[in-house]
Amino acid sequence: MGEVVYSTVKLKPELRREIEELAEVYEAGELGGAADLSRITVLLCGPITGAELDAMNNLRFIQCVYAGVDSLPWSHIPADVTVASNVGSNADAVAEHAFALLLAAAKRITFFDQRVRSGNFEVVGESRMLHGRRICVLGLGAIGSRVAEIAKAFKMYVVGYGRSLRSGVTVDEFYPPDRISDALRGCDYAVIALPLTKHTRGLITYEKLCLMKREGILVNVGRAPIIVKEDLVRFLKENPSFIYANDVWWNIRSPSEDSDVYSLPNTLSTPWVAGAASSRETYEEMLRLAVENVVRYLRGERPLNIVRHEDYR
Ligand code: NDP
Repeated sequence: MGEVVYSTVKLKPELRREIEELAEVYEAGELGGAADLSRITVLLCGPITGAELDAMNNLRFIQCVYAGVDSLPWSHIPADVTVASNVGSNADAVAEHAFALLLAAAKRITFFDQRVRSGNFEVVGESRMLHGRRICVLGLGAIGSRVAEIAKAFKMYVVGYGRSLRSGVTVDEFYPPDRISDALRGCDYAVIALPLTKHTRGLITYEKLCLMKREGILVNVGRAPIIVKEDLVRFLKENPSFIYANDVWWNIRSPSEDSDVYSLPNTLSTPWVAGAASSRETYEEMLRLAVENVVRYLRGERPLNIVRHEDYR
């Protein structure tokens, strides 16, 4: 039986043709009913339901369009199906966004902008320096290593935290997963660029936040549930000089329900726009790289970014 590829996302004709040279291709709306879904061997997907996956009983390979694969219905994916994420596909955009949040918080950009709009040019309070300050980068993959690189350009002292230190990534100190407390202790700033897995869910607790400086800034471009929300709210209320600068939400479908966080005065937020939603250019590059990896699989080559099932089950 030949390969049958199903894409839940719309593909540009030139990308579709690349796959069509190697397999039958269908996009969302072109297939119908369980009989058709059972012919699919390769899935290129954004959001997908467990029921749809159950009907794809010949599936061999899943290529996710997004870098994070935490929202896949993992209990419906058989252990012998290869799953690839799209990590790295938007790392520059997300790292730039992380630094935009950090700089906006440190230099009080939104605070002053609102005052200036009402004609108030009074200079109050103090901004914070990045130069020479200690920043912890949690997750030193595609995004985190780019964040570390930018931090170095700002002449910051960079502490890396991750499972492994890739060659070519420069940090001043590096800590493995069992030394998270050593990584965060005494940091002025931290950036979360970790995936949400069974190991990272709830990693950042009240006690971990207390290890950072009280005038610190925590940036989160990874996933919200890496932080225990109730602990963050308590810590932010107790430490009004600490700022949480955030792009990701606990209530994915209804982020307005996270008002207990974004209504606090010491938060700065964007509505999940760092990656795919940042620009058409970024999203098209993500699709291009996802299709490139599907083609790699169809040619019998080893796909990039294969995910460890055990991180999500
Ligand atoms: P990468 O896989 O390149 O980087 C993740 C890094 O975290 C890797 O170095 C990985 O190590 C490390 N890691 C994984 N598990 C652990 C753990 N338990 N403890 C310590 N380190 C760990 O992914 P990206 O940098 O491209 O993306 C990271 C995350 O950012 C995504 O999973 C997604 O959740 C989020 N994201 C958010 C976006 C947004 O719009 N806000 C857009 C894009 C991504 P190893 O390589 O050894 O597995």
